Amino acid sequence: MQLFNMCKDKYSNFTSYCSTTWLVHKEKFAKAWTNHVMHFGTTTSNRAEGAHASLKKMLRDCKGDLATSWDASHSLTCNRHTEILASFERSIHRIDHIFMFPFYTNIRGFVSNKCLQLIDDEHIRMKSYGGCDCLLRETHGLPCGCELAGHRSTTLLSINSICY
Ligand SMILES: [Zn+2]
Repeated sequence: MQLFNMCKDKYSNFTSYCSTTWLVHKEKFAKAWTNHVMHFGTTTSNRAEGAHASLKKMLRDCKGDLATSWDASHSLTCNRHTEILASFERSIHRIDHIFMFPFYTNIRGFVSNKCLQLIDDEHIRMKSYGGCDCLLRETHGLPCGCELAGHRSTTLLSINSICY
């Protein structure tokens, strides 16, 4: 707000552009708002843009009619889906040795390594910092520091079912 006020007289085109083009959509990209939405860590559209670029390249390189292009597109989508499922399986069943502690017994093998890592980071953060903003609960559906504090283990019930 300070920057905005400093600029508004001298750079009115800039502040007007910011106000009318970006600030009207602030709830969609500013952490003050997005941190209250369950987004599972996806805060950019990079993956969708990457998939779109792959599809565009494939269609550009594809020689043939609509049916041939459709088949190639369908095949690309099926292959990508299979790769994603395989990566989920690998992530759930290849358990990092740091998660072999009893604290993770009830959830190990049901959730991904990434999920275990996020809970571990939160647990460590809570032990050293002590405060909790419940961000992990709100954005990932995972137990936050205040839920983990004082527990000897974590349970599957504390994790949003979409995570397993
Ligand atoms: Zn909390």
